[in-house]
Amino acid sequence: MTTRHAVISGASIAGLSAAFWLRRTGWEVTVLERAAAFRDGGQNVDVRGVGREVLARMGLTDAVKAQNTTETGTVFVDAAGRVLGELPSGGPDGATAELEVLRGDFARTILEHLPDGVEIGYGDSITEVAEDATAVAVTTASGRVLHADLLVVAEGVRSSTRDRLFGDRVERRDLGIAMVFGTIPRVDGDDDRWRWYTAAGGRQVHLRPDNHGTTRAILSFSRAEDLTRLDRADALSRVHARFAGVGWEAPRVLDAFDTAEDVYIDNLTQIRLPVWHRGRVCLAGDAAWCVTPMGGGGASLALVSGYVLAASLATDSLEPALTAYEEWMRPLVEDVQALPRWIVPFAYPRTRWGLGLRRVADKVLTSRPFAPVVAKVTSVAATERPLPHLVVT
Ligand SMILES: Cc1cc2nc3c(=O)[nH]c(=O)nc-3n(C[C@H](O)[C@H](O)[C@H](O)COP(=O)(O)OP(=O)(O)OC[C@H]3O[C@@H](n4cnc5c(N)ncnc54)[C@H](O)[C@@H]3O)c2cc1C
Repeated sequence: MTTRHAVISGASIAGLSAAFWLRRTGWEVTVLERAAAFRDGGQNVDVRGVGREVLARMGLTDAVKAQNTTETGTVFVDAAGRVLGELPSGGPDGATAELEVLRGDFARTILEHLPDGVEIGYGDSITEVAEDATAVAVTTASGRVLHADLLVVAEGVRSSTRDRLFGDRVERRDLGIAMVFGTIPRVDGDDDRWRWYTAAGGRQVHLRPDNHGTTRAILSFSRAEDLTRLDRADALSRVHARFAGVGWEAPRVLDAFDTAEDVYIDNLTQIRLPVWHRGRVCLAGDAAWCVTPMGGGGASLALVSGYVLAASLATDSLEPALTAYEEWMRPLVEDVQALPRWIVPFAYPRTRWGLGLRRVADKVLTSRPFAPVVAKVTSVAATERPLPHLVVT
């Protein structure tokens, strides 16, 4: 049998998982990554549900555990920093998961454990895709023309190749929330828990410990305008205005963001498509189904997708295999994307009255009898179905 060749666009969790598993099942694999080098950075992601089983089959559980962010639980705090309620880690799928890791550490772990023979072309991206009955021809910005049996597009939520090939079938569901992420200096008093402060006016401040001696901060808020279109200074000055008078650690975070190297702003947008493949092209990870941090589980789904794709392709020809891949992944994705309508206004109360209601609900949810309810909410990528069987070479 001739060796099949896959081109994978995007070298983060979905792309690297697909590279890992396709190579392990005998494919020739070329990965293209737009960034000039491996993209480090990002904040907490976690491995949950069936993602843990995929990680174990990769032999990477201990490597990921060794990079645990050190977070021991989650607390809701008030403006004075007093704890209003606590969600301890509580098992593998607690609010702080057992396998909690920074995105960059996670992606690098997969990268460093790729089987021999995976080629990664950094600083390159796809400019043209043409297909005939026997191959897909991928032309890149650097002038390469790669002929492959399959193109896997794993370029994240703003994937340009997906937009080019799937066009108006891509539905973007804007959740009306912006998040500003950044790494700030750790100070005395930063503890080992995720501290979560909600203020009226639809604003939240998050501080989380990491395993690099710094603190990961997020300012998130319900938004009217799109700050991602502004330059950094303009966008941050609007964030300063939006968080004026919020209290707690907001002034410290705002000051630190002014000089932090890795600040980025994102609008939470779900990606939905009726179908994730077309001919010899398939989508994986956020490019196919971004679930946003509001749904959670994006990293687990990205990890699982690489395994399920390779397992499906190992037992069937292309079209039925890509259909089987979709059929296996879709229930997991739909489960996380199906956010109830009240969740955004509940999480981001605008009025003092709404905030009061939220505080009462937090108290109830963090009480012992409600632990099973919280466990259900934080459980993602969970399924009773066994993973498809995969024979590695
Ligand atoms: C730098 C970074 C920081 C992140 N931080 C967080 C975070 O703090 N919290 C959180 O919940 N999620 C974060 N995410 C998103 C998180 O990684 C994903 O939700 C999830 O893990 C799914 O991963 P993915 O591989 O599908 O997509 P992504 O992790 O978004 O990776 C997409 C990859 O494709 C590359 N790419 C994009 N366009 C092209 C192109 N045209 N050609 C070639 N390559 C391309 C990107 O450079 C990136 O390496 C971050 C992603 C990145 C890239």
